[in-house]
Order: sequence, then structure tokens, then C-alpha cells
Amino acid sequence: MHRIECTLNNYAWGKHGENSEVAKLFAAGHKDFQIAKNMPYSELWMGTHPDGPARIHESSEKLSKFLAKYEASKFSSSNKKEENHLPFIMKIMSIKHTLSLQVHPTKEQAAYLHKKDPINYPDSNHKPELAYALTKFELLCGFRPAFEIIQNIQTFPEFRNIMGKNETEKFEEIIKSGFLQESEEAKAALKKCFTKMLYSQIETPNFVAEQLQSFYEKLESGIRGALFEETITVLLSMKNNFPNDVGCFSPLYLNHMILQPGECCFYAAEELHAYLSGECVECVGCSNNTIRAALTPKFIDREALINVLNYRMTAPEFYLVPPKKLQPNIIEFAPDCKDFTLHEIKYSKSEKDSESDTKVISLPSLQCGSIMVIVEGEGKYKNHEKERIFKRGDIFYIEPEKPIQISTSGSSLVAYRTFGYETEHRRIG
Ligand SMILES: [Zn+2]
Repeated sequence: MHRIECTLNNYAWGKHGENSEVAKLFAAGHKDFQIAKNMPYSELWMGTHPDGPARIHESSEKLSKFLAKYEASKFSSSNKKEENHLPFIMKIMSIKHTLSLQVHPTKEQAAYLHKKDPINYPDSNHKPELAYALTKFELLCGFRPAFEIIQNIQTFPEFRNIMGKNETEKFEEIIKSGFLQESEEAKAALKKCFTKMLYSQIETPNFVAEQLQSFYEKLESGIRGALFEETITVLLSMKNNFPNDVGCFSPLYLNHMILQPGECCFYAAEELHAYLSGECVECVGCSNNTIRAALTPKFIDREALINVLNYRMTAPEFYLVPPKKLQPNIIEFAPDCKDFTLHEIKYSKSEKDSESDTKVISLPSLQCGSIMVIVEGEGKYKNHEKERIFKRGDIFYIEPEKPIQISTSGSSLVAYRTFGYETEHRRIG
């Protein structure tokens, strides 16, 4: 088990100063680090990706080089590499306001986009994503069920106008005539509505602004369609942060998910989504490939986005990952992808435990490398027969096939550990 140093990001959508769990967690692990009051602290990246590579604490060697050496010592391969990559990036995120409306490509789509436009698509890898809520965490994810989209089209004429009168009528007709929302016909009709809407931003921006203005007036007068009150708050925040942006219509056609602490969701490639607010542990494939649709000052690629989406319409529960209890103190979140699995390691000290009671937790020995971040508490672990101390803010790389025991006395403990068995990811770029 090796302590590692990871990368802190300061994107504009991050929470500021002491309001950011990312900043506070990083400061807990670095006693000389000063949190700046007005600085956004958006993400802590824990992985080997070149955009934010982790380093071994003691030697400052890149973790990717350390992994390559480990592999070379284990397997005598003629094809020795300088760097080896973990298949995932684990992140802690502190989100103040909406990140872009986006989608991630499949491996095939990523390879194609990277070849065509390596500046905007820096990787040839896919990027499935999992978000585990540390605090109340909100996101938009996946198209709403067809009947909800239709309810919103019928309630808000502005939404119909922006997606096109003919296009929306065709969509309603297909659903009403009995085609299931899963059918290719329904998806193709939704795609036409969506395409019309996205291009309206560049073809008729004044019309978008007018329609948004009229839509907000409807909301102010109490008209709701399929929207919940919490979604109105999201719409008003978007209006402030991205005035006149066609992405402000997105809560009308995307599921608004509100995760409570400990809940977890997952989506693979081809699903339209946007993080809204809160703090999470995020696991993603080892990639930085994002295709953006709206709600961002960054590069927008409408054509690629329209072609990548799967246009699945479904209820938000589809995206939840069920927790699986592995041991009394370890819960596993294992989505349907080889890139990553997340373990929540949690021990709550109760009042009846005395200060001297020691709690020992045995972490499962895994066939692959993993990264663990300590979010709360402190304790001890053994490394090469030496006892060492860990505390909140420490991050570790754990080698394959290493059984690890951690112990804590007089303190609760919360840690997150990510690992993945995928091996095809190693070629980055
Ligand atoms: Zn994403």
C-alpha cells in the first residue's frame, strides 16, 4: 500500500473555498495547503490519466511508471512499456452549478472521433461514468419516458416551437399509434426533435431567447407539466448561469435525479447527462473524451453528439446501481462495466464503544490494482511489517493480491476504493 499524490482541479463550476469538500479533503492530506476563499475547487483526480497523473508520495515517481515497472517484474514480456494505466479515474467532485450537457462516446466512436479531431477528442477510449452521492447530489440523466416528454410538449408551446411543430407532432403521433418508446420509430422521431432544437441555437438564437423568456413566464405563473418543484429550482439556476442557452430546456426532456448520500448511479456511453450540484465520488473510464451539446463555454460538437446518442427513453431508476453488502463494513457498487467497481468502507463508532476499542477491517485481496481515499477518520495499517498511520485526506495505491488490514480506535471511518479489471484501455491517445 503506497501513499500517492493526486491532482486538484479548479474548474469554474466547482464550489469555492471552504464550501468545497474537495478543497477541505485535500487540505486534510496536506498540512501546508492553504484554501483560497474565492477559488473554485472542483475535482480531485485519482488515477494515471496524463491530464492529471498521480505520483508515488515518497519518490514522486508517476504511478503509471511504477505500474509499468511492477508489470515488467511480474511478467517477462518483450513488449515492455514506459507507462501502464489503470482502467479508471476516481474523482471527488464539489459542484456549484451545472456542468455542460454532454455525452461520452463508445470505444468505436471514440476511436473515430480521436482520429478525426485529436485536439477536441484527446483519447481513443470510452468513458462510462458512475456517481456516488456524498451529499445530496443532483443530475440530469437520460431522456424522460415518452409520456412525460409529450406532457411537457403539450403544456409548454415554447418547448414545441423549439423542437419544431412538425417534428413534435410526428413524435406524438408515433407514440399515440402504439409504438413503444423502445422502438426504432420512436427513437428516430425523438432524434429529429432533438436535432431541430440543438441547431436552433446557431440558426435562430433570438427565437431561442424569446421562447425561453416566454417559458419562464409560464413557470412563474405556476404551470408545471411533468416538472417537480425541485426541477423549477434547477431551471432558474440554469437561467442565471447560461442565459439564452437552448440547453435551459433540457430538464423538460431529461430525467432529473436527486440522489441521497450513499445512493449511486451509472451510465455508459451514448446517454445524455449533466451534473447539477452537490458532492460525489465519481468513477470514470481512463479517458477525458466528452461531446458537449450546450450549457458550456467549451467546444460544442452538435453533429457528433446527435449521432452518438442512443435516444433511450426510460424512468430514472434505470440508472441506479444497487448496493451489495460484501462484509459488515464494505458495500460494493458494481455496474455493468469492466472499467471500475466501487467499494464503500464505513465504520461508525457508536457511543458504547470505548476509546480503546479497536476495530479491524480486512479489505478484500483483489487481482488488480486499486486506489483508496480516506474521507473520514484515522487509523493504522501494516506495510512491509511496519505499522503506519493513515488519516482523512490520505490516498493510497494498493497493489494486486495484497490483503490489507486497516484498524481504527476511537474514530469512525469512511473510505472509498476503486478497482477495475479492464485491460484494453492502456493505450491512451
Ligand atoms: Zn459525463
